[in-house]
Amino acid sequence: MSNIKKWEDLDHWVEIDLDKCVGAGECVEVCPADVYELNNGKVTAENIGECTDCLACQDVCPTNAILRHSAWD
Ligand code: SF4
Repeated sequence: MSNIKKWEDLDHWVEIDLDKCVGAGECVEVCPADVYELNNGKVTAENIGECTDCLACQDVCPTNAILRHSAWD
């Protein structure tokens, strides 16, 4: 059973597979907009509204836990 969590606001959304997330924190470090935080070893994206769509977080995640990340069309 998958454990995928989605954060969204009016302009952006992200899905993270919490089974794959190992809390490496690479996305927390790389994100220029401070979208991510680590809580109890898993990443959260409460600040998704600040996302600038640079996609650095997807590239840096060592377990490909960040599945999709996009502005709304
Ligand atoms: S796409 Fe860029 S700005 Fe948006 S959450 Fe990922 S690293 Fe942060």
